[in-house]
Parts: sequence; C-alpha cells; structure tokens
Amino acid sequence: MSESPKRTEIGEIGEFGLIDRLKALSPVTNPSTRVGIGDDAAVIEDGGKLTLVTTDMLLEGVHFDLSYMPLPHLGYKAVSVNVSDIAAMYGLPKYITVNIALSNRFSVEAVEALYQGIHQACQDYNVDLVGGDTTSSHSGLVISITAVGETTPEQLALRSTAKTADILCVTGDLGGAYMGLQVLEREKAVFRENPEMQPDLEKYKEVVGRQLKPVARMDVIFDLRDLGVVPTAMIDISDGLASEVMHLCKSSGLGAVVYEDKLPMTKDVYEVADEFKIGAPTAALNGGEDYELLFTIGQEDYEKIKNHPDITTIGYMQEKENGKVLITRGQQKVPLQAQGWKHFD
Ligand code: ADP
Ligand code: MG
Repeated sequence: MSESPKRTEIGEIGEFGLIDRLKALSPVTNPSTRVGIGDDAAVIEDGGKLTLVTTDMLLEGVHFDLSYMPLPHLGYKAVSVNVSDIAAMYGLPKYITVNIALSNRFSVEAVEALYQGIHQACQDYNVDLVGGDTTSSHSGLVISITAVGETTPEQLALRSTAKTADILCVTGDLGGAYMGLQVLEREKAVFRENPEMQPDLEKYKEVVGRQLKPVARMDVIFDLRDLGVVPTAMIDISDGLASEVMHLCKSSGLGAVVYEDKLPMTKDVYEVADEFKIGAPTAALNGGEDYELLFTIGQEDYEKIKNHPDITTIGYMQEKENGKVLITRGQQKVPLQAQGWKHFD
C-alpha cells in the first residue's frame, strides 16, 4: 500500500506557523540582507544607511467591504498600513509602489477616487508613489502596496532586541478600529433587512473613523527622534495588542507583564463595547487594525517619555521562564492569550 503524501491544513498551524515554514524554505544569501522574513519590514544594508522594505495586500470581501468603505478611505488605509510597518522599524517612509487588480465593475472615476486617497496619504507621510502594476480580477478589488523606507543602524528598532526589565509602551489608544467594524457590520445588516433605514453613524464617528481611515503613527516616531529615544524593540499593532506582545516576546526570547488597567482606551470605546456587550479590554487585546505602535524602552529613557500625551506605559519585559501574563483589574494573574491564531513557542 502506498502512503498518500502528507497534507497539513493551514488552519492547523495558523498564519504565523505558515510564515515560519516558508521562512525555513527561504534562506537569504546576500550579505547586505540584514533582516529578512520575521519583522515588520526587511532591513537591507545600503552603504552606511539601511533600506526598509515592506508589503501588504488588501482583498475585497476579506479586508474591506465596499458597501461601507469609501474608495478614497481605502486608498488612504492601504498606504497607512504599509507606512505603519516602516514606522515600526523606527524608519522614515520614502516610496511606494501600488498594485491593483480590477474587475469591469469599476469605472475610471472609481479608480481615480481610490488614487485620491492614496495621494492624500502620500502627502501626509511625505512619500512618493513611484510605480505599480494593473491587472484584471474576476473576484473583486485587490490592492497591494509595497513601501520603501530608510534609517541608520543607530536608529533601528527590531522585534528581537527587547531586554528584561525594559518598559512596554503603546501609542494612542486601542480597541477603536475593532468597535468601529462591529458598528459598520451591524448597520450593514440593518440596511439589508430594511433599505429604508439610513444609518446614523454620528454617535459612532470616532470608532468608525478608526476603522475606515487609520493613521500610521509617524508623528510619534518624529517625537521619539526629537526626544533622543530609540526603542529597544518595536512592532505595530495590526492584530490586537496581545498578539503583538507575544511577537515581541517570541522574537526577543522573553516574557512580559501587561496591566489591564493601564490599557489606553477612549470613553467612546468603552461605550460602544458596552453596547455590544464586549469588555473594552477584549477589544484592545484581541481586536485589530488599530495601527498604533507597541515598543520597549530601557528604564533610563522613562523620564524622557513619561509626559508624552500619546504614549502610555502598560507593563514590562521579563525572563521567558516567568511567562507572558496579564494582570487583570482584579489583580489576578492570567496567561496573555492571542485569540484567533495558533501560537507555538
Ligand atoms: P505585518 O503584520 O507587520 O505586516 P506579517 O505578520 O504580515 O507582518 O508578516 C510577518 C513577516 O513575515 C514579515 O517579515 C513578512 O514580510 C513575512 N511574510 C508574510 N507573508 C509572507 C510570504 N508569503 N512569503 C514570505 N514572507 C512573508
Ligand atoms: Mg507590522
């Protein structure tokens, strides 16, 4: 009897498990490749400078829904998610290329509307759009952007270089984009049932805005550069805080402590979470798409950042043996868990 070839379902190992398997098949050979697969962007040595490269793809029906996502916002978001990965390296974005796959459902004006949003983001982030590719699609809109940025060896923040006792910091506030998505999905369902019902989103403006038009935190990168603080490690928050803390821990070979009562969340996030009967900390820890930055600093830098209005300290790094833990509001110690993906340590 011949054995059938081994078949592993992707769901068994998850997205991150799959990337690990692909990395094992993709050894790098050029001496100038300093960091390949496994960080927010690749790092390439270029004379005394470092070039950063990152790419992200957004698919209609998977990452966005055109029934509530205006095309200019989609264009803006597609640039922001890439710039956010350059920011997460402590880098400065410089260039993007844009690939789009379109069906004949789209008019020239619709594609121009998408590009108005892309152009707005290019202006906001000081980036040049320098090329791309256009092709046809039978299954909805696909937009894939590659961003190139730059930094220096002294001004680089990898995921893998956090140290025990470093302070964990986040920018801005968390959970908004996830709650915004819940509102949009609910209103879409109501509209389907009864097209006469026009959604009144005014009350949900803040969270809906976080979902539809995320802004990469280049402002904080410039502030940190002015303050003379180079994070010891950094990642952007695309999949929920818990998942990103776990990435920092895994890459740096450490554990971490996060205090639930320190998670930065706005009044709006609390109110909308309440309405949806979701705990606001769950939206912060396990929601996604906030595109804030999670970073670690040495204790000696604490004085420099402690009064920054957009930086919150939420915990610290510890030895791997002590685990990745969340201290709840009730002072209980529970394992930090990233929902949705399987993690193998
Ligand atoms: P991010 O959320 O920061 O964009 P991802 O989780 O998408 O990062 O990717 C993590 C790492 O894996 C990155 O270094 C990325 O370049 C790499 N990666 C993701 N998918 C692939 C793939 N199909 N082939 C090679 N590398 C990949
Ligand atoms: Mg990232």
